[in-house]
Amino acid sequence: MRLMKFGGTSVGDPARVSNLCEIVRGALALQPVVVVSAASKVTDMLLTAARHAAAGTVDASPIEARVTGLLHAFGFERALVAAELDGLTAALTQIAARREATTELTDLVASYGERISVRFVAAVLTAKGVPATHHDAFDVGMTTDDHFGGAEPLPESEAALREAVGALVASGKVPVITGFIGKTRDGRVTTLGRGGSDYSAAVLGAAAGSDEIEIWTDVPGVMSSDPRVVPEAHTIPVLSFDEAAELAYFGAKVLHPKTIHPAVRQGIPVRVKNTFEPSHPGTVITAQGDPGARGARAIAHKKGVTVVNVVSTRMLLAHGFLARIFEVFARHRVVVDLVSTSEVSVSCTVDREDGLDGALRELAGIGEVSVQRDRTLVCVVAAGLFVNPEVCPRIFAALGREGIAVELLSMGASAINVSMVVPGARGDDAVRALHRELFGGAA
Ligand code: ASP
Ligand code: MG
Repeated sequence: MRLMKFGGTSVGDPARVSNLCEIVRGALALQPVVVVSAASKVTDMLLTAARHAAAGTVDASPIEARVTGLLHAFGFERALVAAELDGLTAALTQIAARREATTELTDLVASYGERISVRFVAAVLTAKGVPATHHDAFDVGMTTDDHFGGAEPLPESEAALREAVGALVASGKVPVITGFIGKTRDGRVTTLGRGGSDYSAAVLGAAAGSDEIEIWTDVPGVMSSDPRVVPEAHTIPVLSFDEAAELAYFGAKVLHPKTIHPAVRQGIPVRVKNTFEPSHPGTVITAQGDPGARGARAIAHKKGVTVVNVVSTRMLLAHGFLARIFEVFARHRVVVDLVSTSEVSVSCTVDREDGLDGALRELAGIGEVSVQRDRTLVCVVAAGLFVNPEVCPRIFAALGREGIAVELLSMGASAINVSMVVPGARGDDAVRALHRELFGGAA
């Protein structure tokens, strides 16, 4: 069995959908199971519609226009997804009636993007002579907890998915299954969080025993850097799960970090490929990665990062100081990425402002707090920094030549990444300088 997941851009325009069909047709001997996201922009439009509904306006027309545009391109009518579009309006009406978009109703609204997608994609496949069926993940066993907006599949899903997907594959038609969504045990629709279709794909692929999980997207694999910043960025042919997780965590857009886990557990390789370049091998992510890899592997970056510094002379020889700081962040649900400490200070980065004000007020009781906004976090992933000790000096030499100050630095025990914070205005320069230094090229 071969799990093939197609993201929003791959199901979001007619040319790509046609490519998808040819890719699936070419994989029929592998017994493909297809997982799809909502067409690009649709999830955002659904969430906007939910917010408008909370303010009293029920209007599904932008979504309807986007969806019917795609349907018409293949000669289908609204009727194909009428039940879903009506369900959407009903959900929006419920929100408007309460004047509140609860997380539960928001998930219900968001779920329609994928529910429409599977019906559309299965119909196009069938019309093109690749008989396919469509399925909402919750009908094939995707049961989750009730953390709406970021639900986790329950352990019992595994056996249920294995059985249901196995039966579908045996039927001889290509099952097209929704990414992103599930249902609680008592039947309420949930989502796994933004970008969650990759996670769905991994959970489904692991449960059903896929030999490889293919993530079809709009870039030719995992790149050595963001090609919009570094035009000569190259595809990395083989990555380890650890390297991929670091990259994803530190801003590489291709893969959701959580995707990695179900696949790792079962030793299933994950391959990232481009729908517009199907013959390009892309990047394969495996447990052990490329044993022959040396030196720097990739440079990820994340913009709009905030640095929080807490300085306290009381930290001197005090125990429990770090615990107190992180307890405050935890209570305000602020996610901390990088941490760096000195004898009297703690600096850390956060990538969202939610909850931050409250946390800062409390931290002021612990020490002197300062905040630096608009920073860029740059992360160099390398194959073993202890065995490749030349990488760090090259990083600092390259940044030094450009006159870019590193404001915060962290290198973990995993020794596969060096992460640093630089002023936002120099973020792209830093990434380009590092790429040029570590990979060559004329950036
Ligand atoms: N459609 C969902 C989102 O935009 C899930 C996904 O695309 O992975 O977040
Ligand atoms: Mg995605």
